[in-house]
Amino acid sequence: MTQSLILEKGPFSKDFAARVVEYYRSVDDGGTYAERKLREWEGDSGIILYQAGRGSDPVGWVVYRPDSSAVEEIVAQTEEKGLRESMMDALVGRESLVSAELLQNDTEKYGWMLRYGFRPTRRFTRDGAGLVKMELSIAVYLKKVRGKPPAKSYPDSEQVIIQKVPPTRSPEELKASLMNVIDSLGGLAKFVKQGESVVIKPNVVADHGFREGKYHGGVVTDLRVVRALIEILLPVAGKITVAEGASINRAETGKLFEHYGYDRLNEMDPEKVELVDLNADSLVRKTVPHGKRMLSREIPVTLDRADVIISMPVMKTHFAALVSLSIKNLQGAIAPLEKYMSHFFGLWQNLINIHHLVKPKLVIVDGLTAQEDFGPVYGTPKTMNLLIGGTNPVAVDATAARIMGFDPLLSPPILFAYMQGLGPVEPDKIQLLGASIDEVRDPFKEAELDVSGGERFLIHDGGACGGCRGYLHYVLNKLRRPDPKHPGINLIDRPFDRRVNVFLGPEAEVEPDPEETNVFLGICQQHQAEGGKHLPGCPPHAEVIMKGLYSLYPDVQRPRYADEHAEDKLEKMLMEVLEEEK
Ligand code: SF4
Repeated sequence: MTQSLILEKGPFSKDFAARVVEYYRSVDDGGTYAERKLREWEGDSGIILYQAGRGSDPVGWVVYRPDSSAVEEIVAQTEEKGLRESMMDALVGRESLVSAELLQNDTEKYGWMLRYGFRPTRRFTRDGAGLVKMELSIAVYLKKVRGKPPAKSYPDSEQVIIQKVPPTRSPEELKASLMNVIDSLGGLAKFVKQGESVVIKPNVVADHGFREGKYHGGVVTDLRVVRALIEILLPVAGKITVAEGASINRAETGKLFEHYGYDRLNEMDPEKVELVDLNADSLVRKTVPHGKRMLSREIPVTLDRADVIISMPVMKTHFAALVSLSIKNLQGAIAPLEKYMSHFFGLWQNLINIHHLVKPKLVIVDGLTAQEDFGPVYGTPKTMNLLIGGTNPVAVDATAARIMGFDPLLSPPILFAYMQGLGPVEPDKIQLLGASIDEVRDPFKEAELDVSGGERFLIHDGGACGGCRGYLHYVLNKLRRPDPKHPGINLIDRPFDRRVNVFLGPEAEVEPDPEETNVFLGICQQHQAEGGKHLPGCPPHAEVIMKGLYSLYPDVQRPRYADEHAEDKLEKMLMEVLEEEK
């Protein structure tokens, strides 16, 4: 049996340097890349050299830059088949999601990294050398880490309270239930000191909550719970801000506040209570520690300056993330361009990046009326009459997911947060207070995804994760409607002259045929971008997929998902940012 491969930090050695110089002799044909990098690494305390070994036998090295999570070199000392892949597996097990930077003319390394699951996201020049940045596909990463423990086990045990709320939900009952959540977790004084500023971050995502003029719940945080929390906070807090930044039509947070009656909250104490649209707030740039996919993020000053942040998500399913709970709730806490960039660079990882910079002190999940099926906005309300509270978002979300009947680690945001050390999911590390999970568990209907194509509209799903599958399902559904040009058939079955192929996921079972129309989805398909229409993102935003696929039907009006002009503006802004970075 082959011994498992271990990575250990070590010093730069002459042997390592000689191997690097030897390798680049052919790759860099007369260049000085190897010598320059060796000098740079040796003088840089921010670089780690991992020595890979089996037992006491050294087998290779990995040069790793933790502040950008980038592999800068990987060298095998033996000809063992699959050795570099094993070294990369060990690195991913230790450092989680990684990227890589390599010379553009290092085609051999590019080839095996592509086969491993890295994708080229940027080509640029530094110190005269043409480089390519590669990101590990998240779908590949999810498969690599599934069932494995994080590199560092979360050291603490976290408390989570499951609070049952009387179905009558009177203001007094809601306030008493909330008070019980807070008291069980240590009491109000533990969270808010006299005169401190508190930001409540509810989930006010979209205007889809009303049916036939009546709000049935489950889409936005129940106004009555927010009101009850403000009542509890008023005697202590110096200022209470209810802050949100709408996620779909990003210019409409104010309208949503009005729509759901939030705009009247400041009547409770006009001096102390205010509403803030985080999409219009001033921003402060922060470096993400051990940045992955994005190395810095702009955070609204309202959150940056708050003494205390209380996150109040709704208990919901999510068509791409399985559940939308407290980790997902912070997607609303960033500015429109940042939201757009999250989709572009990798939504799940960027939720974790935000959690390094915005840290709610208390999480209270609104599970009065939850949402199942095609959440977070098009699902069905589900009565649960619960509040779930805690101080650690991962422990709270894991508990809520279990109540919903799901394995928490099947939700990418929870898995990413767990693997990157933000909190525990193990039942023996979550001390439950209040009701037990068994007492309140009521399985939720999961969003069912259909990514099947049509007669001449083929979908090639090469192991895509729920991100691309979920967003593609949403758009394909819009094509399952009558084709005005061909009565009796749906748009998706239109008899295109050139067959349409949509490729998603990191694996390829079919080679794209250049004679056909080819659409490539997301970072997983970025390496094919030049062979057709590439829809960027991870997952691409619904509006990006909508625009891309509807461009195949120039005679059909595209359904509206989000404010198209706002999205176009954001796309332009992002392109400017990327251009500046070059
Ligand atoms: S590009 Fe799509 S399939 Fe690939 S990891 Fe991102 S969301 Fe998943």
